[in-house]
Amino acid sequence: MNKPLKQHLIDPEICIRCYTCEMTCPVEAIEHDDNNVVVDAEKCNFCMDCIPVCPTGSIDEWRVVNEPYSLEAQFDWDELPAQEEIETAGGEAETGLEALDDAMAALLAEAHAGAGGKAKAPASASKPTINMYNLSKPAVATVQGNYRLTAEGADTDVRHIILDLGGLPFPVLEGQSVGIIPPGQDAEGKPHLPRLYSVSSPRDGERPNFNNVSLTVKREDRGLCSNYVCDLKKGDKVRLTGPFGATFLLPDDPQARLLMICTGTGSAPMRAFTMRRQRTVGAKSGGMVMFFGARSPDSLPYFGPLNKVPDALLKKHLVFSRVPGQDKEYVQDRMVSEEEEVAEMLADPNTHIYICGLRGMEEGVEKTLTNIAESIGQPWGALRDTMRGEGRYHVETY
Ligand code: NAP
Repeated sequence: MNKPLKQHLIDPEICIRCYTCEMTCPVEAIEHDDNNVVVDAEKCNFCMDCIPVCPTGSIDEWRVVNEPYSLEAQFDWDELPAQEEIETAGGEAETGLEALDDAMAALLAEAHAGAGGKAKAPASASKPTINMYNLSKPAVATVQGNYRLTAEGADTDVRHIILDLGGLPFPVLEGQSVGIIPPGQDAEGKPHLPRLYSVSSPRDGERPNFNNVSLTVKREDRGLCSNYVCDLKKGDKVRLTGPFGATFLLPDDPQARLLMICTGTGSAPMRAFTMRRQRTVGAKSGGMVMFFGARSPDSLPYFGPLNKVPDALLKKHLVFSRVPGQDKEYVQDRMVSEEEEVAEMLADPNTHIYICGLRGMEEGVEKTLTNIAESIGQPWGALRDTMRGEGRYHVETY
């Protein structure tokens, strides 16, 4: 019998196909087909470089196997196989993580030091549909509208794009993402990979009971897909993959309280959460508090409509970093000045935290949460792990 091996795998149910791990892997052990992103057991050297860059934690899967799963087997998976019982030299059965040796476990712990890590969906979330459409079988949507959200003349051009799926089934939940395949080919003549965008509309459509979704997209300098999307005209056809994402989801429990922390277009899923609650439970819900950072009011997506949402449903802290004559303020700074409110929410087992936007904000937000949790006698690392284990702590940053 072969000596059991540790194998690094990716959870196809949770992976959002952003391909960041594939671009990060220094030994090219990660590849994809039209369906899945997979790890080549022969090439992976367990360097762990891919762990902290994964926005969902789907990269963090390990199995002890007698024979490694082949690439072909992994490409076919809809879900991960369970850990099989493996007999070791000592005659004991081991599971994946227990079998990691100390050096690997230490590397993994270091890779987990950031706010990212393995997430779980809220216990009451609806079951998402994932990966219905892929690179070889994309959905084709029609552009229904493309509206500029930021003021003309503001230094950011953020667009609200509405895509009509017509008669095509495309079930999405708030918090999920879709891929857009930009037309054309890369320098090597290969079709471009899809770029991921969070859906900013609720599950029953941008317009209730219409089969459409909205996206919130910022034009990036020289951004291949963002310029394509921001220039779309009504009636244009767009190829979509997805939906993706099985953890950054809204609890269906109306009493769950949401603490939402976002920057820029990271507000897209928060808009979807807010609209879902507006259309279902309204102010009778457990409530939502939002810390939302942008450069200025005229570059904050949905500034006008957001201000009209009643405080009883959504308490808003809109924070600006570049308003002339005002001190620069980031979301984590405002959380410090609203420490009491944040502390009260942290202490409540009904609270779910969502962080979405710039990767750079994670460090500052973590530091602030550490200090606030400490002030109520809770070590943040332990509280965060409990919340994550209960499906109450969600981070998606790029
Ligand atoms: P942005 O306009 O560049 O920045 C928004 C605000 O965040 C600005 O006020 C900016 O301040 C501030 N900021 C910069 N560094 C910060 C830090 N370390 N801590 C706290 N705040 C900080 O934002 P954007 O271009 O819209 O970017 C949004 C990001 O979200 C993108 O990276 C996008 O990929 C990501 N995103 C993720 C998802 C998802 O995960 N599902 C969905 C949508 C978007 P200054 O510029 O003045 O420093």
